Amino acid sequence: MSYLIVANWKMNKTNQESLKLITEINNAIQQTSNINVVICPPYTSIVPAAEVLENSSIMLGSQNMSHEAPGAHTGEISVDMISPYCEYVILGHSERRIIYGETNDIVNMKILKALGSKLTPIICIGENIDQRNEGKLDSILKEMLESSLTGVKSFDNLVIAYEPLWAIGTGISASPEQANEACSKIKILLMEHFNKTEKDITTPILYGGSVTKENIKDFLNQDCIDGALIGSASLSSEQFLSIIQTIDTL
Ligand code: PEP
Repeated sequence: MSYLIVANWKMNKTNQESLKLITEINNAIQQTSNINVVICPPYTSIVPAAEVLENSSIMLGSQNMSHEAPGAHTGEISVDMISPYCEYVILGHSERRIIYGETNDIVNMKILKALGSKLTPIICIGENIDQRNEGKLDSILKEMLESSLTGVKSFDNLVIAYEPLWAIGTGISASPEQANEACSKIKILLMEHFNKTEKDITTPILYGGSVTKENIKDFLNQDCIDGALIGSASLSSEQFLSIIQTIDTL
């Protein structure tokens, strides 16, 4: 079993700090076999990080990108600017949706753009606490996933991250059972969308939301969870590497 572990550094780390952290991580986990690690640093660190990771198994991801073609889009970043260095791009993160108003339609356009440039989108979906309490988990996951996948023909180059909003950056993670239940619903939605059986669907489904070295094992021991999207605990080499070391024992 191989796991996919994605580090989302968000708007943290100067270039100098990024390179220090990426070097520490790279030196420590080059030999790791059952873990595919993707680091998503700020845009400013992508190119220098790619140099540090030249002969490394660690891959790079971008935290976002524009769906527009190059041109008059002040402050945006195009797919061509990141695709030479990154294999992945996080799209539809709840902070993009809530703070910057990204709609399901915008997220879908970004996904199609990423796929067109051979970048693998890590598509973030998840409910807020009111939606969960009102019993709307199924309908929210369906709506977010279906709209994300409009026009997407293959499940090969996709990653889905189940990120309940109430667990992101709060220190209160979902329980492993809650996370697994949602990931298994996502798997069924993927089977329906692509008209495939369970064994055909190879799309990794990640859990994200207050993952730590203490709880990572419990999430990865669940049937339908193939990895994790990690924010806060990916910002220090000590915490991130202890998560990786814990996974190594699985
Ligand atoms: C995230 O931002 O995607 C995330 C999971 O953050 P945290 O691990 O800090 O909850």
